[in-house]
Amino acid sequence: MKKIMTMGEILVEIMASQRGQTFREPGTLVGPYASGAPAIFIDQVARLGHPAGIIGCVGDDDFGVLNIERLKRDGVDTRSIHVLKQAVTGSAFVTYRKDGERDFIFNISNSASAQLTPAHVTEASMKDCGHFHVMGSSLFSFRIVDAMKKAIEIVKGQGGTISFDPNIRKEMLRIPEMREALRFILEYTDVFLPSGNEVTLLANAADEQGAVKELLDLGIREIVVKRGAHGCTYFDAQHRVDVDGLSVDEVDPTGAGDCFGATYVATRSFGESPEDALRYANAAGALAVGKKGPMEGTAAMVEIQQLLASHASRETT
Ligand code: ATP
Ligand code: MG
Repeated sequence: MKKIMTMGEILVEIMASQRGQTFREPGTLVGPYASGAPAIFIDQVARLGHPAGIIGCVGDDDFGVLNIERLKRDGVDTRSIHVLKQAVTGSAFVTYRKDGERDFIFNISNSASAQLTPAHVTEASMKDCGHFHVMGSSLFSFRIVDAMKKAIEIVKGQGGTISFDPNIRKEMLRIPEMREALRFILEYTDVFLPSGNEVTLLANAADEQGAVKELLDLGIREIVVKRGAHGCTYFDAQHRVDVDGLSVDEVDPTGAGDCFGATYVATRSFGESPEDALRYANAAGALAVGKKGPMEGTAAMVEIQQLLASHASRETT
């Protein structure tokens, strides 16, 4: 079976231990935890038993070791993670407000993750890749955008498919070249995985229905809209499928979208129908929010099946 691959930031996350804690005064922090949206995504792919690999850069430090060891342990091919001598591994510090919103202090644009260039993307590193996933959050420099385009062209050239989670900061869209780059990626996208508020981000239409039609007309085959606790919706040219969110306690929302996308893409690659892939992905997202730490909520298939079974039995009793 061919590999699912992704590319981009690999970081550690360090979290405030109390809700309402701020970074304006000393407090207790927990971490470092393995993190980075593409890293979480690929870890979840590997945990489902699907061949998986990631291209990225870390520094020559223990934050890098922590990530590489963790991804390796879960079955990810880490041979295309480059350890850069002159850079440090990226990091993110996060606090949780009382209302559940998160505030971040990122150290990514100065980190090893920002040193990724098209030279890191080679035919050899992508030889067994049948599907490539693009995270919008990774596109924070034009060098990285060029690297992403190169990866997309290699994968498409060998008959593979592309998924795209826009997950992009709004400020990036104000840069005209960045919007153009995202449109380029969209044109190659087979599976689009936006959050509810991101559906219209790259479309001309102002409402979801119009944007979905426009995106399908562009050649995207499957669109899956993530709706947090409300679940998700699937669209293709003929169908719409809505799935309610599973009722779970939300401990930490970070990583839910990444685990959701990974599970959808991997189970589709295993041959599941869109409906079943959607149910599995919905459960993977629910499991992700139940665990503290960005990558700590990735789940094996048995856990996903157990959660679905426990909810099915609740519905019948
Ligand atoms: P992020 O904020 O990390 O970018 P996202 O917007 O990409 O996240 P979400 O919609 O928050 O992704 O979550 C992805 C999926 O995970 C949802 O579509 C849903 O299936 C599941 N999920 C998320 N939050 C919850 C929750 N509180 N309860 C149950 N399921 C959830
Ligand atoms: Mg998201």
